[in-house]
Amino acid sequence: METVNFVVHPSEIITVNSHSEILRDTSVVVRDGKIESLLPTTEARALRDIAQVDLSDHVLMPGLINAHGHAAMTLLRGIADDMALSQWLNDKIWPLENKWVDQVFVMDGTEIAAAEMIMSGVTTASDQYFFPDIAAQVFQQAGLRAQLTFPIIDVETAWGRSGADYLEKGLALGDTYRDHDLVTVGFGPHSNYAVDEPLLERTATLAAELDAPVQIHLHETAHEVLSSVERIGERPIDQLARLGLLSPKTQCVHMTALGNQDIDTIADHGAHVVHCPKSNMKLASGLCPVSKLLDRGINVALGTDGAASNNRLNALNEMQAAALLAKIESGSPEALPAHKAIEMATINGAKALGIDHITGSLEVGKAADMIALSTRELAMLPGHNILSDVVYATSGNEVRWSWVAGHNILRDRRLQTLDTEAILRKAASWRVKLATG
Ligand SMILES: [Zn+2]
Repeated sequence: METVNFVVHPSEIITVNSHSEILRDTSVVVRDGKIESLLPTTEARALRDIAQVDLSDHVLMPGLINAHGHAAMTLLRGIADDMALSQWLNDKIWPLENKWVDQVFVMDGTEIAAAEMIMSGVTTASDQYFFPDIAAQVFQQAGLRAQLTFPIIDVETAWGRSGADYLEKGLALGDTYRDHDLVTVGFGPHSNYAVDEPLLERTATLAAELDAPVQIHLHETAHEVLSSVERIGERPIDQLARLGLLSPKTQCVHMTALGNQDIDTIADHGAHVVHCPKSNMKLASGLCPVSKLLDRGINVALGTDGAASNNRLNALNEMQAAALLAKIESGSPEALPAHKAIEMATINGAKALGIDHITGSLEVGKAADMIALSTRELAMLPGHNILSDVVYATSGNEVRWSWVAGHNILRDRRLQTLDTEAILRKAASWRVKLATG
């Protein structure tokens, strides 16, 4: 994609800058993929050497960051619902994956996921799945910014034979994308129950050497925590801390069943939490104490998890779910107000992924990762409070424009990088294949 320069004139801008500014009569000038300036619209309209994108009746905001997902699992959407995590994984998801996951599965599933995410405002996706090399290719084709945390697990899968094999393949992937503009690679040990201690230790050593991100499912359920105590005499978070696997580069996904000491441990190590409210609700996994974590100064980002346990990859939906669930969890309607939910899906996600110097807010010098939502949708009317409308009233269909590093990937709700008809054809053929079990 060629680099383009343009200026956008929205009706409002949610900046998510350090002052949480909402700007009116302001335009964003993009050059070489970066935000060059925010100018009064009258001044910006007078610029002669640059394309003008008129988006009155639109709110412009930072692109959303889906900090945890398994994109290719969109092919398993709806195939196994309404059961507990252990039964869901052991009886349904893992056997299906054993039978069907290969490069084509990952390519086709990731493509559906990328399209769905773009249509609902995601500009950065974190992904953890087999064949991350294929997922990386699809994300690049889609024009999304991506973090791939390659899977590390004790069992043999189509992608790897053993822990050593996963590490070798993952390190090679890291070499391929070293210093890449849009793709970063990190370590994805599945969990403390699916990765034995020597392999977790090796992961910690390599990740520290490379200063690479680590993303792990942690404290997803109270059962996971209790069985860890029975098995190794330690809570999962304590094992990670002891092994040197808990640092400002660590993204702990889920984090339910937390005591005050667990929260202190996360804070003391500067680790990040990725909250997946809809997946936690659907699998009845538990409640992440988001307000408590934020009050303690812990960075909390937002993830959809895979489509088999959500079943959407819609970051706007996820913000809404997070804001509502925080109120139930804490017993306070004041918990996680709209502006905090938006921060979780933008700047907090960027901090968790270690890319907040590049994206997560609309500020001069950052990449032009931006989305524009129509404010003429019925659910956005009459428009008293844009933050409230974005969090509590959207469905995802309001997202009409999207840019990543200045490249336009959604234009008036039409995908610019992916072929919707081809995606529909491939999905239909997988529906037939997977129906055989
Ligand atoms: Zn997950």
